[in-house]
Amino acid sequence: MKFQSKKALILAMSSSLFFSGCSIFAVSTATSVVSTGVTVGTVALQTNRMMNHLNAFQNIAQNNAGNRATGSKGGEASTRYILEQVKKSGYDVQMLAFENREKAVGQNILVEIPGKNKDQAILVGAHYDSVKMGPGINDNASGTALLLDLVQEMSEKKVQPEHSIYVAFWDSEEEGIAGSKAYVDKLTEQQLKGIKAYINVDMVGTKDPEILIADADKSSVDDMENMLKERGMAEKDYKPLLDGLRNVPSHAGDQALEESLKAFFKAKNLKIKEDVSTLTASDTAPFLGKVPVTSLILFNEKMKGDVLEFAPCYHAACDTVDKVDPQSMQIAAEALVHLLKTVDTQ
Ligand SMILES: [Zn+2]
Repeated sequence: MKFQSKKALILAMSSSLFFSGCSIFAVSTATSVVSTGVTVGTVALQTNRMMNHLNAFQNIAQNNAGNRATGSKGGEASTRYILEQVKKSGYDVQMLAFENREKAVGQNILVEIPGKNKDQAILVGAHYDSVKMGPGINDNASGTALLLDLVQEMSEKKVQPEHSIYVAFWDSEEEGIAGSKAYVDKLTEQQLKGIKAYINVDMVGTKDPEILIADADKSSVDDMENMLKERGMAEKDYKPLLDGLRNVPSHAGDQALEESLKAFFKAKNLKIKEDVSTLTASDTAPFLGKVPVTSLILFNEKMKGDVLEFAPCYHAACDTVDKVDPQSMQIAAEALVHLLKTVDTQ
């Protein structure tokens, strides 16, 4: 997750997030799919395996100056660790290198889980780099661990989705949301049309979480406006923020994803918060308005002095494995599987 304050957020909204480009989706190298009849619905992710990955990322940071930032030794060790893990699956794995604004070389890692239908795909992503200030275990080794387990589980159960599922491990989110941008940059119009959904997973280990889901129809912005009016705030003071949120690009397919997540959490009796602002602050940003997008983010916001902290130890050296709640990981994992199942059968 990549914003420090509401102020930074407003500034980020005014800058352009969009690029156009051509060529590469992941070029499928899998020759044929062996029909197994095992559907995505059978996938059950395992928290203990995810926690093992978190411990591995914690060790990587500890052995490499306390962080796993793009271009650092800890970043490179994180890339190697993910590669090692995903190669065990037997799926086609691609490394996509790019350069970020600091001239550091980042490596996106893309795993293809072949489906029956090759024309349309589902893309799931999480960033694996940390900030330079800390090990980035909740932000976002947590999302990375969840996707590593997804790849392992799909492979071990020989799941055959209806549509190919691409699992993306993005680099350099913390530095300019650069990895996912570099990827989207190179997609053609036709390739974008082939993406049924982009599902983003960021900071899913937060204890006592408030579950944020993408607010497709931006109803939360209207609620915010009413609340600020009632509090007597002058329109000129809140209008720029709310206009920024309303101008965040959307896609006609966003709403169905929101409904699917809402139904899942409602059935579990869990409260959610519809949110727009985080969409521009993570790897969802480059995809907005181009493909159907949704995201899973778990916050636990508290004021720390004058600064709003999104989750305990956000972007700090203490973002360590002991702060991660396995139960939160489990909830996020189940929500992700629910989404995949829903989108895959549509
Ligand atoms: Zn972050």
